[in-house]
Order: sequence, then structure tokens, then C-alpha cells
Amino acid sequence: MKKLIYKLTLLFNWVYNFLFPAMCVGCGNALNKSEKLVCQTCLNEIPRTNFIDNSDNKISEIFWGLVNFTHASSLYYFHKDTRLQNLIHHLKYKGRHEIGFILGKEAGKEIANSSWTKIDYIIPIPLHPIKQKVRGYNQSEKIGEGLSNQLGVEQKTDLLVRKINTSTQTKKSKQERRENMREVFELNNPEQFKNMHFLIIDDVLTTGATLESAANALLQIPNAKISIYTLAFASQI
Ligand SMILES: [Zn+2]
Repeated sequence: MKKLIYKLTLLFNWVYNFLFPAMCVGCGNALNKSEKLVCQTCLNEIPRTNFIDNSDNKISEIFWGLVNFTHASSLYYFHKDTRLQNLIHHLKYKGRHEIGFILGKEAGKEIANSSWTKIDYIIPIPLHPIKQKVRGYNQSEKIGEGLSNQLGVEQKTDLLVRKINTSTQTKKSKQERRENMREVFELNNPEQFKNMHFLIIDDVLTTGATLESAANALLQIPNAKISIYTLAFASQI
């Protein structure tokens, strides 16, 4: 009887997978057995910035004069109506937090193969606790888990704390956003983190106001170094 149930279960799974094959969240094509959520074609073909070993890149330009940073880069270009937008939408709003881990690992591979100096801690941009409770997780932390897995660097999620729940910023000017972001973050027990190199990470870089604010909070730690890395760069041009 047990054997029969086992065989029926196998048959059911086969028919189910045949009728409803798992789809790639990026492109909608069927996934093969070794793939989860994102197909290898998407991972290979989503356009990358390849900025990482160029210190004069577009990400650095955003932060020059605003933050004293060591390295700054983004993995992918972000454009509307693309596979990457589908992936990030599902990561942020559809509960598919595993996408953060998968793409975070891609980011980790890029950093591991770069000329960047040693990083001591990965710091994801925190969400306000209320927002995190509603979403169930912090998408940047999920990206950080993939990075941490790939780089063998610890992720710290309790050092940088978001104390103000900023309202949606999309209708504000660049200057208004920057004003709004000042003093948004504070540090929790920073004494033990002197002389460390922090990698601050986020999902999509637009104006950089959030990252700038987080970086300047961390730079209050004596002799701290910070670098900035995001999964995607939404070019304003
Ligand atoms: Zn795909």
C-alpha cells in the first residue's frame, strides 16, 4: 500500500510539473530542474554595469563630495519593463525574498573577483521596523545574505538603525530628498566597531540620498571606512 501511495505521489508530481512548470520570475520561461526562481539565461543576460574596477564610475560620481568612501559600484543597470524590474518587484512586493539571495550571490561573485580591499562587515540599509513588519523581511538584508554567503563576510543588521519612517520620496526634488534623509539613521552600540571597513548595500540606487545618510552615520565611528554597493543602478539620464 505504501509503495502504491509513493508511486501515485510521483505520478501526481510529474503530471503537476508537466501541466504547471515552474517559471522564471524574470522572463517567464520554464525553469529547468537545477534552477530556482531565476533562470540561468536571465542571470547571464541582465545588463551589468561592470563598473567595479573603475574608480571613476557613475556610482562614485554620485557620492563624490558628499561621502568619504573607499569603493562604490552597482551590479546591474535598472530599466523599466525589463527582467530585472520583474525580479526586483517580486523581491520587494511579492514575498519572493529568495531572489535577494540569488542575486546577492551574483553580486558577491563580482566583488570577490574585483580589486576591492577587504571588507569587515556587510551593512544592509535597514527598513523602518513598521515597514519591515508589513513586508515580513528587509530585501536588502536578503541581498546581503547572498553576498555574505559568497564573500564569507559577516552581515550586521543591528548596528545601523532607522529611526524615522520617511514618506514616499518619489515626488520630492533631489535637494528635498537629501534634507529629508538627514538624521534618518542612528548607530546601536558602535564602540566595538572602530577601524572597520563597512560595505553598505541596497537594492536600487537612484539619487543616493539614503545611502549617503547611512554612510555618514557609519562614518561617525572612529577610523571607519565605508564602501557602497547596490544590486541595481537606475540611471537618471
Ligand atoms: Zn529568466
